Amino acid sequence: TDQSRIRNFSIIAHIDHGKSTLADRLIQRCGGLTDREMKQQVLDSMDIERERGITIKAQTVRLIYKAKDGVEYTLNLMDTPGHVDFSYEVSRSLAACEGAILVVDASQGVEAQTLANVYLALDNDLEIVPVLNKIDLPAAEPERIKRQVEDVIGLDCSDALEISAKTGIGIDELLEALVTRLPSPPVKDPSDTLRAMLVDSWYDAYLGVVILIRVMDGTIKKGQKVRFMATGVAHEVDRVGIFTPKGVMVNELGPGEMGFITAGIKAVSDCKVGDTITDERKPALEPLEGFKPTVPVVFCGLFPVDASDFEALRDAMGKLALNDSSFHAEMETSAALGFGFRCGFLGLLHLEIIQERLSREYDLDLISTAPSVVYKIKLNNGETIDLHNPADFPDVTYIDTIQEPWIKATIMVPDDYLGPVLTLCTEKRGEQRDLTYVGNRAMVVYDLPLNEVVFDFYDRLKSVSRGYASFDYELTEYREGDLVKVSILINGDPVDALAMIVHRSQAEYRGRHICGRLKDLIPRQLFKVALQAAIGGKVIARETLGALRKDVTAKCYGGDITRKRKLLEKQKEGKKRMRQFGKVEIPQSAFLEALKMG
Ligand code: GDP
Ligand code: MG
Repeated sequence: TDQSRIRNFSIIAHIDHGKSTLADRLIQRCGGLTDREMKQQVLDSMDIERERGITIKAQTVRLIYKAKDGVEYTLNLMDTPGHVDFSYEVSRSLAACEGAILVVDASQGVEAQTLANVYLALDNDLEIVPVLNKIDLPAAEPERIKRQVEDVIGLDCSDALEISAKTGIGIDELLEALVTRLPSPPVKDPSDTLRAMLVDSWYDAYLGVVILIRVMDGTIKKGQKVRFMATGVAHEVDRVGIFTPKGVMVNELGPGEMGFITAGIKAVSDCKVGDTITDERKPALEPLEGFKPTVPVVFCGLFPVDASDFEALRDAMGKLALNDSSFHAEMETSAALGFGFRCGFLGLLHLEIIQERLSREYDLDLISTAPSVVYKIKLNNGETIDLHNPADFPDVTYIDTIQEPWIKATIMVPDDYLGPVLTLCTEKRGEQRDLTYVGNRAMVVYDLPLNEVVFDFYDRLKSVSRGYASFDYELTEYREGDLVKVSILINGDPVDALAMIVHRSQAEYRGRHICGRLKDLIPRQLFKVALQAAIGGKVIARETLGALRKDVTAKCYGGDITRKRKLLEKQKEGKKRMRQFGKVEIPQSAFLEALKMG
């Protein structure tokens, strides 16, 4: 392909501003699919994605557009994941493009993820075409929103396009703008040494691992032996293709082109997003810039409610890991919850998506422990450990300092709800960095400990702002903090699944809260049961569950035999779900409930 006739671009937008709808409209206009094939929202292929309206896995589509100058252009549209948890993947997708369409809902205006995505695009030196979407809506105010984009982002909007992805208004003008305003890829010699960027990968039941690439230098061909520079592994390319969005095989991809390859690879863990693919026989000296492996930042334990589901869970975990290189799982046992897995995620949304897939696609009923961040603990002997699980907290006498991850959070909220949002951030140990206004919307920037954000921040933010606040964050640094491990003890026995690491200022409140809940959840026993929260040996909260006065089951005995048998069956069923703590037997459902409120 003539490189001057290629345009590689992404669409960036805040969630719900119309990215997927626009992508579909562009595909339809360029004839990539017939109307019959044009299912709603082609690019969001997974069910969960469609329901949540977010795109988890980036995909790319090659469109052929005949411009007003009579020339046919190849437009490669790359779909990017829309959420902050996947910002590294977004950044790599953008690095594979020369331009971006910035979509802003003309009835809503700039939101937190609009900004976050624009910054990523600017970091990657992309040419940005601003577009005001949904101008068919009576509430659309394109002129006002253009001024807002200019004020907040500093992007010239004199040439901004006004479109409706839904009705098709302005789509032809947008296609022309892509051709005339976006740069073509830099002109390179197709016989240069191969360097292709690995943009994404996923597991396909028929093809094995499919790898989405952008060729930066040289040419990739079927039959070529290639090396993945970050992982060091070599494979022979057995297929080269493009998506139209249907998969179509081609012989090769040259400089500036995007497409996919397969190479007999079994696991996506060998395919790191951002890795450089080069020629095994004539390898590049330097990889492409910007590779960094993704690291999980939020961890939690996942356990089957029914112990006999463990094998099914193990199976499902393996399948998920096959398709998601940023998902980590390791076996774990817990006295309270039995056998399960300790899992690592890129963020809370990633965690939610995986949990949902486990219950929906694999029909597994699971308990998850409270999410925890990764702490860095410096020991007296100079060693530093990464702590993923409160259960592994070392003896305090060995600890020198504990550091926790902090984030920079950007929140955009209508003025009316600013007060409660500021109160929430302060309560969460936040430090205000900036507060500015865009019309009647406030943009506030806070430094916050991630630990507090994974607790219940999203839900609280949503409720105090009636859903009007938008939120975005990036990890910034580790800071030393006065953090303690709070253990929960039942008659003196610690319950591993309920242990948590919290800031000392929150320890008593959280401890008292959990003990109070357990008191309501644990059935009375024949003796008194002490429920305590403790830091080391020091008890900070206590509740006592009174003893059962008389044998309430006595009246069940005697009488009709089938009724008695049924009762016994039921008891046996219940026994399976009981957990023993010293002399105390606790139904697993009590832990489940206790964990629900974090
Ligand atoms: P995404 O989250 O950015 O991918 O947004 P979607 O494409 O899923 O769109 C979010 C919602 O806005 C959907 O209900 C769309 O039907 C609607 N929508 C998208 N574009 C337009 C438009 O131009 N006009 C109107 N009225 N609705 C639109
Ligand atoms: Mg979408």
